[in-house]
Amino acid sequence: MAYEFLTSENIPAYIASKSKLNKIVNPDKISNIAEVGDGNLNLVFIIHDSDGGTLVLKQALPYVRLVGPDWPMTPFRAEHEAEALRIHGELDPKKIPVMFDYDPDRFIIAMENLSSFRVWRGAMIEGLRHEGVAEAMGELVAEVAFGTSALGLASKEQKESLAASINPELCRITEDLVFTEPYHDIGRNKVLPENQPDADKHAADAEMRLAMADAKWIFMTKAEALIHGDLHSGSIMVRALDGSKEGPAEARAFDSEFAFYGPIAFDIGAMWANFTLSAARHIALGDEAYANWALELITKSWNSFEATIRAKVNQSNQDPMWTAEFLERRLADWMIESWLFAAAKMSRRIVGLAKVHDIEALEPRLREGAARGILELSREIVRHRKPGVTTKQFEALALETLKKHSTR
Ligand code: ADP
Ligand code: MG
Repeated sequence: MAYEFLTSENIPAYIASKSKLNKIVNPDKISNIAEVGDGNLNLVFIIHDSDGGTLVLKQALPYVRLVGPDWPMTPFRAEHEAEALRIHGELDPKKIPVMFDYDPDRFIIAMENLSSFRVWRGAMIEGLRHEGVAEAMGELVAEVAFGTSALGLASKEQKESLAASINPELCRITEDLVFTEPYHDIGRNKVLPENQPDADKHAADAEMRLAMADAKWIFMTKAEALIHGDLHSGSIMVRALDGSKEGPAEARAFDSEFAFYGPIAFDIGAMWANFTLSAARHIALGDEAYANWALELITKSWNSFEATIRAKVNQSNQDPMWTAEFLERRLADWMIESWLFAAAKMSRRIVGLAKVHDIEALEPRLREGAARGILELSREIVRHRKPGVTTKQFEALALETLKKHSTR
């Protein structure tokens, strides 16, 4: 597939050619163009003009940027990202970057510049506390869960939205990297030599393998809502309300190219896994107070998700069958599935392709225990996921297990 890639040289002409963009940034007065993509897949440029106008252009390449043309990847993923930005943005505008334009010929999304925000993972690595972000993301997941599922959509709309969301290539990445490869290595797994016995034990654990088959099956079949699909702490930007480094904060969820109709609990589990990875980092560094703070985000995100979706369903008369009692049953399912997906998402970050800086940036002596703790914890979580489990139990189990295996 041939289309022109963005460069600093051709961006001014590109902006000039787009009526929606040349009103935001003056193409004749561009003062700065910077490529900032730190991600694995796409090009991201931040553009400024000398009048203070600014925007971001994100372009999908026909391959994985991290690897190059040897790993082709459909650029149509940009269409799913744009569609999710639009739909999620309509449902919860304050938590999604504003999209200015989508170019289906060159797979370019033009959106709001979030440079005054920072990626949450980096802030958590530094031990900063942005308050209210987990709650905000719980609300967003609930708004999306309600607003894109049969809870909030009429039957026909729900099916049309579902059909348009089919995103096979990106789903396949998750299916392989999250659910399969940690248990069937095709040569892309890697751990420290000291953790090889842990990885082997993990992959050989019969209960874990079966649970991950369950998780994969749910991921592939439970088309509940237009989920984000990759809601880790690197897909959330945060900004303290008073402009300082931490404290009460606002948040935006971005990078929704993995969006598809999938299980609602997948986004919740993704967040929980990343809160837990952050906790593992800070236990390794001896900061138990921060680890506790990070783990408490699990309950905070769940409580706000639960309260928001309860309120939405109670106020809605979309379908007389969706009663309060019915919702309680869904919440019970989502809780257990969130445990399952959290277990899947934390352990793949230890053994599989695409690791996280929270753990990788630890010196090997400390990383060993953090990695072991996460693998042990993910199996504990799988074993403990029973009807009636609570987020507080998850947090306690996480703290205990991570401390037990720390090599500090
Ligand atoms: P990828 O899909 O390739 O991972 P991301 O959407 O994660 O790309 O973007 C990569 C990086 O670019 C982000 O981590 C962030 O630093 C920066 N970025 C992305 N979108 C914006 C934005 N709207 N404003 C400012 N920076 C952004
Ligand atoms: Mg991405």
